[in-house]
Amino acid sequence: MTTPTSAKLSIPFFRYGHLYNQQRERLLAAVTDVMTRGAFILQKDLLQFEEGIRRFLGVKHAWGVANGTDGLIIALRAAGVQPGDEVIVPSHTYVASAASIHFAGATPVLVECGADHMIDPAAVEAAVTPRTTCIMPIQLNGRTCDMDALQRIADRLKLLIVEDAAQGLGSRFRGRFAGTFGAAAEFSLYPAKVLGCFGDGGIVTTNDAAIARRMMLLRDHGRNEDGLVETWGLNSRLDNLQAAILNVKLADFPAEIERRRALAALYAEGLEGLEDMTLPPAPDADSDHFDVYQNYEVESGRRDALRAHLEADGVRTIIQWAGTPVHQFKGLTGTRTTDLARTERLFQRCFLLPMNTSLTDEEVGYICASIRRFYGREG
Ligand SMILES: *Cc1c(COP(=O)(O)O)cnc(C)c1O
Repeated sequence: MTTPTSAKLSIPFFRYGHLYNQQRERLLAAVTDVMTRGAFILQKDLLQFEEGIRRFLGVKHAWGVANGTDGLIIALRAAGVQPGDEVIVPSHTYVASAASIHFAGATPVLVECGADHMIDPAAVEAAVTPRTTCIMPIQLNGRTCDMDALQRIADRLKLLIVEDAAQGLGSRFRGRFAGTFGAAAEFSLYPAKVLGCFGDGGIVTTNDAAIARRMMLLRDHGRNEDGLVETWGLNSRLDNLQAAILNVKLADFPAEIERRRALAALYAEGLEGLEDMTLPPAPDADSDHFDVYQNYEVESGRRDALRAHLEADGVRTIIQWAGTPVHQFKGLTGTRTTDLARTERLFQRCFLLPMNTSLTDEEVGYICASIRRFYGREG
């Protein structure tokens, strides 16, 4: 890779303004249309978005919800997780995954991740007890877990799978999309997610008609098509205004995935041969996985010094979850933890390089050149 200009750049971790600026005219038209119609709650733009997601994923049912965390609670409850159950989830995840289990009345059981940072199927199997009813795989960093291995365990032990696909919209394992494997799944539409809206938002999906109906009731006060209350429910609807924004975004989404994969390929090329670093698999390096690179999570044996070096060069990086896996947050009582030595070691090493569609090739080249300088490997 050619070394870019020597001028110092300033590269933020994420450019929130880009979400609007890149599609300004179409977004303004969509928002103006909704506001002029006064179409704010459960209107046609939401139905159109839900239809768009069903078509994109090839899934039978999709509902827009207020945020990904609510989506997880709704997915767990609609799938049949009960108070007192144990649900197995990796500790390398956002607190929301474990919180949703807690608020469904169940116990989060925190397990290890493997070398690819995804939930470790062997650790799942080892954590099962007579109270276990569900596995929650995290489709982390825009990659789908080894769903064959998890499905085999679930089938043999009669466990549900509820996918946390908050970071995985568009990612696939053996050709099948994240969010279409388990009894139920959730996606987040938080602005920094692969498909981000202008605030909070989420989606729940399922191929099961009975679960879909419970999801619909749960997200809107337990009300059925006639407005009559059938059961207890939440107010967790995706705003119609956000849905209209998302309809614009969804049209460009396949191209954005390709751009993320191109950026990941540039990183892989630019950081090749640095023995101290571990990179995510490059696009198509592994035929079972189609990754959408929600994040570009790397490992370095000299992480903190490398991050300080990048910061001095104007490059902002972050560590997911403020550098703390779920089991290390002391205030989260009522979880059960297993041996998490590998996760703890990973959290001495891992961090995120900038990865989003506002990045230019030149910026990725600049980041890679800065890292090569750190390792004394110019050029
Ligand atoms: C973002 C995220 C969520 C929750 O999404 P919100 O829309 O912010 O509620 C859940 N799990 C994971 C892994 C996430 O990254």
